[in-house]
Amino acid sequence: MDAFLKLQGKAKEEFYQAKYNYYKRFNLGILFVASVMFFILLVPDWQVAEQLSWQTLLIRSMVIIPLAVVVLAYRITSNYRIMSVISLVMVHAIIWGNIWAGSFMTDQSYVNEGFLFVSFILLLVAFSAPPFYAMVAQLGLIANILLADQLYHFPNLAVILSFNIQVILLLCLLDLVITGFYYDHYITRKKLEFALFHDPLTQVFNRRQLHKVMGQGHDLSFLSDAIAIVIMDVDHFKQVNDSYGHDEGDRILQFVADCIRHCLRGPDMLIRWGGEEFVAILFDCQPDQASRVAERIRTSVEKSVNGVCKITVSLGVAIYQGGDCFETIKKADQALYVAKHSGRNRVVCYEALDREALEAAGISGHADA
Ligand code: GH3
Ligand code: MG
Ligand code: MG
Repeated sequence: MDAFLKLQGKAKEEFYQAKYNYYKRFNLGILFVASVMFFILLVPDWQVAEQLSWQTLLIRSMVIIPLAVVVLAYRITSNYRIMSVISLVMVHAIIWGNIWAGSFMTDQSYVNEGFLFVSFILLLVAFSAPPFYAMVAQLGLIANILLADQLYHFPNLAVILSFNIQVILLLCLLDLVITGFYYDHYITRKKLEFALFHDPLTQVFNRRQLHKVMGQGHDLSFLSDAIAIVIMDVDHFKQVNDSYGHDEGDRILQFVADCIRHCLRGPDMLIRWGGEEFVAILFDCQPDQASRVAERIRTSVEKSVNGVCKITVSLGVAIYQGGDCFETIKKADQALYVAKHSGRNRVVCYEALDREALEAAGISGHADA
């Protein structure tokens, strides 16, 4: 639960950004409610002054300004640092407004109760912020009490301070507890997301990942200007299972997936397409590079030693030209089919095939080339 304290760098950024994203609407709701509560304090102002106090009405109406700043920022950014600072400062703006409004009252004794109220608002707003930010905001309340004392010269400043400091320290501790709870939730969600989009045997992506990234009409063109698709299938894999058993077969599939992964670049996407079939989506990959990558995969699998038996793969390559990516996968699959029928352990590019080659392989579709 306290593991979030050890997060560093990118992992820490991701965690706090996820925490903000999760609680941001709650945060906005709390700020809205706090603004309304601050505004309706004009009723006790009225009771204290025994008449409507125009000055306090004006001051309390001004809460609309920080609230508008928060709403505007909320619409233009999701950066957790900016939003945490703006939201926490807004709560301070409420307490400044309360101190200011109190200066127009004959009896300011209820002003210091506002500090307690604001401590709890800060705690709720801090659901979406890193605990460090929340603690600074909580401790800032002590400065506000001292500021108010300059105006009102509280006769019982020591009592107010000692009471509020205890509450503030407890709430700082609660900020840490809340972040710890969210961390447990975050880790569980990450594990579930990983399981949803990855193949449990080989740890490469499953088909859901492709559905997640593609646009309308199965379009991929917005992801990169040059995309190539490679489909690969382990040769005679049934025999491997029959000769060495299913468990060894599983180990070989993991091994093949690792081999392929090592031949790809960071942004490329490797998907387990089915049983012993994989699809690689190569981004920023020119047509001539695509067959080179496929050839690299083929030789890497052929030369690798997996400790069980010699393994080869056949590969089909097709260049994505926009539109439905499943059409390109179908073309790559036709090229794979030709590779299988012309002896296996080879790379075939759909664009290099002619009508006869496809017909000879018994495929009714035709290559564009
Ligand atoms: P080809 O060269 O034509 O591709 O022949 P093949 O034997 O590889 O082709 P086929 O499609 O007939 O056999 C695929 C085999 O892959 C059959 C199936 O038992 C095996 N297989 C599919 N998924 C898994 C898996 O998760 N683990 C293991 N061990 N085997 C699997
Ligand atoms: Mg096979
Ligand atoms: Mg197969």
